[in-house]
Amino acid sequence: MIKKAVVSGCIVGIVTILAAFVLSEAMVAKEERLERLLKSGHFVNGRTLRLVCDVTAYCSGACCNTGHASGDDGSRLLDWSDQLAVGGLSISSLLKEGLRPAAVDTSVIPFGSIIDYDGVLYVALDRGGAIKGTRLDLAMKTHDESVEFGRRPRQIVTVHIPRSPARVVGLIKEQYGEGRAE
Ligand SMILES: [Zn+2]
Repeated sequence: MIKKAVVSGCIVGIVTILAAFVLSEAMVAKEERLERLLKSGHFVNGRTLRLVCDVTAYCSGACCNTGHASGDDGSRLLDWSDQLAVGGLSISSLLKEGLRPAAVDTSVIPFGSIIDYDGVLYVALDRGGAIKGTRLDLAMKTHDESVEFGRRPRQIVTVHIPRSPARVVGLIKEQYGEGRAE
């Protein structure tokens, strides 16, 4: 009985490892889309900036996406869980597609820019009340991952700003937004 449990435990373990491997392979393959986009005409004659940023991470849940707004009717809780500032796209669906959103200050980094941090590509599609100047907030799949990421001050980040940022946002919405043809 005990032996059986150990054997099946091992099999579950192996299957889990295999699934994780296949999943990470798929993620890498999908991230190539962002790399392709970066090499496309949209980024030819665009600008590339090297910025020193304070980098943090967030998840799509309410834990990272609520705030208080005070108005005439007093303070109320705002919840924008899983919603990106760029309409029609959810954080979780993009992450599932292998596209990593980032929250930026659009006066520094326009939406549609591709951010290279530590060899991983992110796309500027979100903003936040605390995201000002060179603060950068990167979307992670789970809250644990965002906690593990922590606060990373003064990180060197490469930002590729497309020739027409609005056009790149439109393209991403078309390919990954609701009602996309697939
Ligand atoms: Zn969270």
